[in-house]
Amino acid sequence: MLFTSSLFLIAGAAQAYAATTTSSSFAPQFSPVFPNMKKATGVVTSYNPNQYKATDTLDTSGLSGYPNPWEAPSTTSAEVKAAYNLINWSKVPKAPVRKQKSNGDWVSDSDGDSDPYCWWSSTNCLSPKVSYLPDDIYTCPKKGDWGLNYDDGPFNRYTDENAKKENPYAEPALYNFLQKTEQKSTLFYIGSNVATYPAAAKRGLNDGHQLCSHTWSHPVMTTQTNIQIVAELYWTLKAIKEATGVTVKCWRPPQGDVDDRVRSIAWQMGMRTILWDEDTNDWAMPAPGGGDLAPKKVDAYFAGLIKNEKAGKYKTGHIVLEHELNSATVNMSMFWMPKIQAVFNVVPALTCNNILQPYWEENFVYPAGNSGPSPPASTTTASPVPVPTGSPSTCTPGSFGLGQGDGYNGACCNDQSDCLDDCLSGSCNGEANPNTPVTTAPPATVTTASPAPVPTGSPSTCTAGSFGLGQGDGYNGACCKDQSDCLDDCLSGSCNGLVNPNKPVITTTKKTTTTKKTTTTKKTTTTKKTTTTKKATTTTKKATTTTKKATTTTKKPTATASCIAGARGKKKGNGKTGYCCSSSDDCLETCRSGTCGL
Ligand SMILES: [Zn+2]
Repeated sequence: MLFTSSLFLIAGAAQAYAATTTSSSFAPQFSPVFPNMKKATGVVTSYNPNQYKATDTLDTSGLSGYPNPWEAPSTTSAEVKAAYNLINWSKVPKAPVRKQKSNGDWVSDSDGDSDPYCWWSSTNCLSPKVSYLPDDIYTCPKKGDWGLNYDDGPFNRYTDENAKKENPYAEPALYNFLQKTEQKSTLFYIGSNVATYPAAAKRGLNDGHQLCSHTWSHPVMTTQTNIQIVAELYWTLKAIKEATGVTVKCWRPPQGDVDDRVRSIAWQMGMRTILWDEDTNDWAMPAPGGGDLAPKKVDAYFAGLIKNEKAGKYKTGHIVLEHELNSATVNMSMFWMPKIQAVFNVVPALTCNNILQPYWEENFVYPAGNSGPSPPASTTTASPVPVPTGSPSTCTPGSFGLGQGDGYNGACCNDQSDCLDDCLSGSCNGEANPNTPVTTAPPATVTTASPAPVPTGSPSTCTAGSFGLGQGDGYNGACCKDQSDCLDDCLSGSCNGLVNPNKPVITTTKKTTTTKKTTTTKKTTTTKKTTTTKKATTTTKKATTTTKKATTTTKKPTATASCIAGARGKKKGNGKTGYCCSSSDDCLETCRSGTCGL
């Protein structure tokens, strides 16, 4: 299939997930590239374990050049169309666009017990019906963990007597509380809020919280057309990136309303779907944007969770849905937090799933616990990715863990902790082992060495203004002018992707001055579903054995490539990732906008 060439395309982006080409591998992902974006200011550029004082310095103007806040974005925007064109639509199940009531909620027209599109709102399905999408994340696997998360931010101001003391944009009450108690969280941001209150989003990142997307205008996503879904996700990704400098790889659908059509679009745009397995129903309390649920009932939900944990009724931890929607939800959370912390191990929702690098910008490495020192930043030191030592992997079916496998792409796994990236269907994804071949089981499996290319010659001489693989080394942090300078993506003048396994890369940060215009914003209240709470059910993972054939397609182009611009096809190139192409016939995988790869 041919894909339209686009200025915004970063064909190599999919490599960050290093999917293989086996039929059971996941659909490729890409990180949209945002044209003409100013560099984020006032934000940390890697996880900062220390207290960050943001309150005095953050610019409180809104972002400009975005759709109207809390309104459905236009579907005719060139930027949205460019993102749309990057999606492989053959990998998007053709679930119907769900009907919508006048209040925006979806109409229950269940697909029946077979639930062919894994519609969570209908059947609580969490395990996609297609092999090329990963399961949703919805719980904390470890008993005793409370995966802390808040939807609908950023921004919540005090409305009581403390209001006068607050900078209404840069000092959300919840964030002050979390900072004071040194508690980190995962935050699902609404794009409209980010564009309106970017200072609050910066504060969230600077305080050490993990950011994810929660759409632009908070619609029920299965009721949206494909292009509407892309628009909702695109503008939110962009607003978060412009405000904070990070491109998130996680999202939560409003009301949890997701099916395989929506999942696939979000996945291909770089985001894993994150749901929950316990709901405090805090969002339904009487307050702006809320409903009519008595606060006493919400108290009872919190109390019940604590009681059950104390009684040893839970076999796993939980991701418990909470909101920074209004003062009622924030006050409720602040009231219960000390009691929760006394019983549970409270950590961010991604952390309890061992997702510690939730952005395309890999300098952000969150600690495994609630807080603590961060691993060295990858831009100034050697790779944060542990390089295996000793003999090649001895991982075989039934032998799990970093000690036995090596955590790299293709190694077998039992759970997240066995992998450097994700454990998906019993196999680690993510980076390929740069040093040693990984033998995956069962024995019939083809063995492959998929080492990342190791640069040769002298250390990188790349400095500001010197571009290209010849001068830089193409690894994460090296400066770049365009895609061809990087092994992965060129983002904001710097390569992302793989970290140079052999030597430190020093980057030069360019200073950019930004002038922000104040935009006039319109706020409408969000309508929320007030029907019964859905609880995600535990689903048994498909017993997929690791019969995947390992392939050699994770190799990146090397200096020996003879393919040049205008020279296309297997005869001149070799069809492997990174080679230029005019159609998929020229590639071992897929031709996307003139470059082979996933
Ligand atoms: Zn929400």
